[in-house]
Amino acid sequence: MNSKKDIKVLTQLLKLKSVKVVSHRQYQGVGIMLQIESINSESICPRCGRKSHRLHQNHRYIIKDLPMGEQQVFLEINKRQFKCNKCQKPFSEELDFVDSRRKYTKRLANKTIQKVLDSDIHSVAEKGSVTTEEIERMLKDASKNSLITRPSYLKRLGIDEIALVKGKGNYCAVLVDLDNSKLLAILPGRTQEIIKEVLNSWGEELLEQIEEVSIDLWRGYKSLVNELIPNAQVVADRFHVMTQINKELDLERKREKRKVEDSIKKSKSQLEKDQHEKVLDGLKKSKYPLLKNEEDLNEEQKNKLYQVKEVSPTLKVMHELKEKIRMIFDETKDWLQGLFQLGIWLLKAKENFPVSRKTIIRWIDEIIAYFDNGTNSGVIEGINNKLKLIKRSAYGFKNFENFRVRCLLNWYFDC
Ligand SMILES: [Zn+2]
Repeated sequence: MNSKKDIKVLTQLLKLKSVKVVSHRQYQGVGIMLQIESINSESICPRCGRKSHRLHQNHRYIIKDLPMGEQQVFLEINKRQFKCNKCQKPFSEELDFVDSRRKYTKRLANKTIQKVLDSDIHSVAEKGSVTTEEIERMLKDASKNSLITRPSYLKRLGIDEIALVKGKGNYCAVLVDLDNSKLLAILPGRTQEIIKEVLNSWGEELLEQIEEVSIDLWRGYKSLVNELIPNAQVVADRFHVMTQINKELDLERKREKRKVEDSIKKSKSQLEKDQHEKVLDGLKKSKYPLLKNEEDLNEEQKNKLYQVKEVSPTLKVMHELKEKIRMIFDETKDWLQGLFQLGIWLLKAKENFPVSRKTIIRWIDEIIAYFDNGTNSGVIEGINNKLKLIKRSAYGFKNFENFRVRCLLNWYFDC
């Protein structure tokens, strides 16, 4: 069974430098077990750097490796201890394919992380041979090896936030490099203290380089930026303005739906009831047709939009105003024209967007600054969407730290 030819082929297939297969066995329903051995008969003492041949102890254990076809592969390895002739102390040899105290090869960890980045922990754990705990350990190790904690150069910073658990007010702040479309940090909260600590850890020199900071429409961020990054122009990214406007539009949609549902209950005649039912039909499932960019709607959504505009004059006006301000952001490239266009919009929006209108007026300087600096349009939105996607697929994460690592790896892991 363990013919020389088999052994040679398996060693070639295994493709691990510095080891050879000495035997193999197949276990029904478990996989293939390969006993492997280092081809070096010596190792270098980490204390003095001398080679030693003196074997002190064998330390055999089993680790997981990449599967071969459908078969799970286990490696029985021997991490030998040598004794140094000079130091007279024992030391363990380094095996370059497995990290110390890990029960899987480095290449299995890399492959697994790649898979997790394309899906989520649970499905990878279900399909493969590694457990959820092992994957979390792999992610943590990778984050130590590949995640930067401090950017070396930064010109334009974005501060955004993402809700960890929707509706529970559990937010974390997100720091973004706008020029490179990269996530810089995810923080466990969004308070001024938490952000301040990270920014301060970057050092004054770096903070002084920053020319522009894009923030969401929260005053706490503004005063923080003014305090810590004095050279930067504060800009309100269009994404945050549009989020606010969409929120107000959606609230109106919900309000109208509730109102008509109420009217149906109170209807005094069948005719009256039928009329309200017709309105309700128009309002149903209209959220995305109303909120999505109009040019991105499919035929069905376009029909729905038409239908909802037929039954609700208010939503019709609000939708048109929403599309209008989006156009202003899209097409205006200088601040004076931007100010002029926004002024007209604010007049028209007085009745239907009271909340957004107030916000825009309060933040007008920062929004106008966007028109001059708006080259990053889409960066914050893109990163925010990506984070939401990770969050949705991250139900396998037991805590914030795992979520953070998973997000950062998305931008920094390469193997
Ligand atoms: Zn030594």
